[in-house]
Amino acid sequence: MEQKIQQNIALRPYTSIRTGGPARYFAQPADSEELKGLLGWANTKQIPVTILGGGSNTLIADRGIDHLVIDTKGIRGITVRGRLLCAACGDTLEKAVTVSAEYGLAGLEIFSGLPGTVGGAVYGNAGCYGHAVSEYIDWVEYLSCDGSLHRLYRDQYRFGYRDSPFKHHKWIITEVGFNLMPSQPIAIGQKAKKYRQMRRDKGHYRYPSMGSIFKNPPGTEGGRRISAGKLIEEAGLSGYAVGSARIADYHGNIIINYDGTATADDIRELIDHIRATVFEFHGIMLETEINFFGIWDTER
Ligand SMILES: Cc1cc2nc3c(=O)[nH]c(=O)nc-3n(C[C@H](O)[C@H](O)[C@H](O)COP(=O)(O)OP(=O)(O)OC[C@H]3O[C@@H](n4cnc5c(N)ncnc54)[C@H](O)[C@@H]3O)c2cc1C
Repeated sequence: MEQKIQQNIALRPYTSIRTGGPARYFAQPADSEELKGLLGWANTKQIPVTILGGGSNTLIADRGIDHLVIDTKGIRGITVRGRLLCAACGDTLEKAVTVSAEYGLAGLEIFSGLPGTVGGAVYGNAGCYGHAVSEYIDWVEYLSCDGSLHRLYRDQYRFGYRDSPFKHHKWIITEVGFNLMPSQPIAIGQKAKKYRQMRRDKGHYRYPSMGSIFKNPPGTEGGRRISAGKLIEEAGLSGYAVGSARIADYHGNIIINYDGTATADDIRELIDHIRATVFEFHGIMLETEINFFGIWDTER
């Protein structure tokens, strides 16, 4: 297993926001058996493990991560049986959408254009347009800390808004079974294309970002959840910047790495500023949706 592990690897290219320092140890398993071997190695050496999927919802500290960082993107494989689509944790959600359309299975197309892996989407219960990934899950297979494999069925767990059982346990998702609805492949493909295009039109991919920084706070306005982005814009923060970390003009809840030189510290300072300003303006303390990894000077 030692030969699979690299040391002092820059993590910036492994994140969508393009910031962050190095991993002390870094590995890219090709399948869940290798993943299991790496967990065993880390357990024996008592080195903590950090799991990284597409890195599209993650802010890594400039000083890096003093752990074994496991990049799951090599753990891939999608199979279809009837209306069940099984995807490995490292497959992109986009790939799952593409295969579901090919097989005439509807449901996932609404997530077309949402960056990241299947594992990351299930961990954070990613969602958009009023739907969340958990609505389509039949079961999730995961490795617990001791490396044993388990399967959790739909009626055995509770997902919430940007919340999953995996946020509360040190479990590593290896495979997900999605239960989908038979439909017309062409229609599914067309819908997926439309959702992808909507994101492109909104400017989602124009700059490095992590998508939404904050969860929409509890409560509704006009039957919809209060929008964190709207609260930020109303507090007069659109376009506000710390270094090259800037609140996107097109969406108050998105921070962009404007010219690629922003540091993780810039982004974190901007996040703290947004929280303080929104609290002052609206009396609402926003909660972050993104994941913070690594060594920070001040703990959150
Ligand atoms: C342009 C853009 C648009 C976005 N739009 C949306 C949106 O509409 N809706 C939305 O919800 N999000 C959105 N996001 C955020 C992001 O795409 C999602 O949260 C995505 O599901 C994260 O997946 P990932 O593989 O990149 O996760 P990562 O960022 O790699 O990891 C996120 C968390 O999941 C954990 N994790 C990853 N894989 C596993 C695994 N196999 N087992 C256990 N834990 C794991 C990590 O440890 C980490 O804590 C957007 C991001 C960008 C850049």
